[in-house]
Amino acid sequence: MAKDAETPGTEKEENRDKSSEAETKRAERAMEKRPGLARRVVGAVFNIRMLRRVVQILFLLGINGYIFAAWWGNEQITAFWESVRNAIPTLPIIAPLEAPFGMIAGSFDTMQRELSSGIFPFFTLGAMILILTVLGRVACGWICPIGTLQDFATLPNRSKVRPAPNTERELRRVKAYVFVIVVGLAVWMGLSRLTGTAEDLEAVLGMFANAAFDPFNPAYIIFVVMANQVWPTGLDTLWYLSVWGTVVWLQVIFVTFVLVVSFWVPRWFCRWLCPAGWFYGLFSRDALIGIGRNPARCTPDTCNVCEVVCPMNIQIRKFPYDHMYSADCILCLECMSHCPNKAIELRFS
Ligand code: SF4
Ligand code: SF4
Ligand code: SF4
Repeated sequence: MAKDAETPGTEKEENRDKSSEAETKRAERAMEKRPGLARRVVGAVFNIRMLRRVVQILFLLGINGYIFAAWWGNEQITAFWESVRNAIPTLPIIAPLEAPFGMIAGSFDTMQRELSSGIFPFFTLGAMILILTVLGRVACGWICPIGTLQDFATLPNRSKVRPAPNTERELRRVKAYVFVIVVGLAVWMGLSRLTGTAEDLEAVLGMFANAAFDPFNPAYIIFVVMANQVWPTGLDTLWYLSVWGTVVWLQVIFVTFVLVVSFWVPRWFCRWLCPAGWFYGLFSRDALIGIGRNPARCTPDTCNVCEVVCPMNIQIRKFPYDHMYSADCILCLECMSHCPNKAIELRFS
């Protein structure tokens, strides 16, 4: 009897032990899956998005790196920056040659100036095509200062404006028209200079004579026009602003407009207006490095996260899985970072 009376209690205890054992195992399994605190902190800080932000900031400063030489005024530092400045080739971004503190020039900016001087931009084009066919428009996504400023203007806003596909398609055409006008004027100017008939044309074109895109080029406005103005250094020198001309104020308003609109419409200047971006896209479409989707992981019928986060508003799901041949992709890898199924991969082909 004593034995019979003990049996149910023992069973209960055994069952309790088993269930707590199972819970412990479950928890242990969960702990195994969950990365440690240190790994989680490192993962949160050093992900690809953070890396891109860091690279963008470094290049934003570095593109005007000569300013450090100007500040320190040390001969050796100046000589060092000068040597670096001369060694860096032009890159497929927008950055004007005349920027007083500029270290890197944009391929398109250089090309415009060479064409309008009657020089065929052989080396500029060669270096540009080489970079774009290998790396795609990675410089637009990671280096270009105007791309960076737009990205940072967008950052605080979580509800972006996305035009309908047809509207987006039409707006994207504008940058091609801008390209044709700008390059057409540069070639015309170059031919006039070669034939010695440039004076009248220079007088007519005025500020558009050497590089017709410059008056609207945010990089030119910020790094040349504004950098060359007399800046107020305190309340007592605020009156310096009164010496800025009307054209300068219009240009400053334009740059402000570009950044304010970017708050709602990511990279709208890149998508619709930048002639350089359009030109770079001609060579980057079939680049060796690109984006692809893993068909075993991608669930395009129930998910569109990659398209929502794409700053270039690309309809990623419409492209073949193996390689996304889009002239607009700037390899920012936002789609890759956000894809819930880890379906986006870098492809080399
Ligand atoms: S498209 Fe955008 S990122 Fe590319 S060169 Fe133009 S402004 Fe820069
Ligand atoms: S977010 Fe990922 S899973 Fe979703 S459609 Fe894009 S690639 Fe496919
Ligand atoms: S497709 Fe991906 S990598 Fe390309 S621009 Fe869009 S988010 Fe960036």
